[in-house]
Amino acid sequence: MTGEVFAAHDDPGHPESQARLRAALAGVPSDARRITPERAAPEDLARVHTPRYITAIRSFCRECPLGRACYIDPDTYAASGSFDAALYAVGAVWQAVERALDGEHSFALVRPPGHHAMPARAMGFCLFNNVAVATAKALREVDRVVVVDWDLHHGNGTQAAFYTTDRVLYCSVHQMGLFPGTGWPEERGAGRGVGYTINAPLESGSTGADYALVFRKIVVPAIRRFEPGLVVVSAGQDAAFDDPLGSMALCPGDFGALTGMLADMGFGALALALEGGYGRSHAEAIGAIVAALDGARFTPEGGEPKASTRLLVEAYAEEDGAILI
Ligand code: ZN
Repeated sequence: MTGEVFAAHDDPGHPESQARLRAALAGVPSDARRITPERAAPEDLARVHTPRYITAIRSFCRECPLGRACYIDPDTYAASGSFDAALYAVGAVWQAVERALDGEHSFALVRPPGHHAMPARAMGFCLFNNVAVATAKALREVDRVVVVDWDLHHGNGTQAAFYTTDRVLYCSVHQMGLFPGTGWPEERGAGRGVGYTINAPLESGSTGADYALVFRKIVVPAIRRFEPGLVVVSAGQDAAFDDPLGSMALCPGDFGALTGMLADMGFGALALALEGGYGRSHAEAIGAIVAALDGARFTPEGGEPKASTRLLVEAYAEEDGAILI
C-alpha cells in the first residue's frame, strides 16, 4: 500500500519528506503486488484521537498557504494537503490489517508516520497514529492485538492509546534516552493494562544481535503468552547503522531477521506500517523486510549482544510471571 497521494504532505527540506518515501520504495521488488491506498473516514480517527484535536488539525491544514509547510512544533509540520494525506495513511494501514486478517502479509508504506501522535497532540513528525487507529479498529474483529515497534524511537503515542487495556500488548525496542524521552522498562501499563506494555530501551551502538536477543527472550515469549489474533508492526528503520537521526547499528538484513522471527510465530500474517527510516540503507532494509515476508530468512549480524542488553533481558526473566502476562 503506497502511492504519490502522500506527496500532499511534504516539506522537501525536512528529513520526513516524500523524497524519503520514494527512496525507500526503491527497495520494493518490482514484482511485489501493490495496492492503491484508500482514504480512511475522519470518524475512524476518533477511535484514538479526540474530536477537538481532529478538527484542530483539519483547520490548521486548511489555513496553511498552498505550497508551504506550516509547523505545529519545531519538529512537526503540516501542509494544506496533510489532513487528506494523513487519512490515506490511516486508511492504508487499515488495509494492511485487513490483508493480514485474510492471511496475507502486507506492508503499508505510508507517511506521515504515526507512532508519536498522542490522542490530542501532534508530535515527532506524526499527526495521527496510523497504527493505533488501525489496531483499535481491529479490536472489533479480534480479541487481542500485539503491536511490535522496532523504530529507533519509543512509540509514546501508541503506548498511551493502549496503556490501560489488556487487549493490546505493546512491545517497543528503541534507543535509550532519545526523543521523546519515554519508554523505560518501568512503564508497564496501568489498571487492567499492567503487564501489557513492554519497553526495551537499548544502548546506542546496539546491533542485530542485541535486537534478536530481546526478541528471542522478551518479545516472542510475551507474544506467545498473549496469543494475539493479529500482529501489527510499527516498522521504522531508523535504527539502521547509517541513519542520521540515531546511533544504532542495524544492517539491512537485520530488519529481515526480525520480520522472520515474527512471521514464524504462527499468529497469522503480519501487518507492517512504515514509521521512521532516513538513512541511505533504508531501501535495502525495506527490501530485506519484503523478502522475509516472502519467505527468505536472515541471520542477525553484529556478533555478541552488549552486556547492558543481557542485563535487561535477565531483569525481565527474573520478573517473568510477576509483571509480564
Ligand atoms: Zn523513529
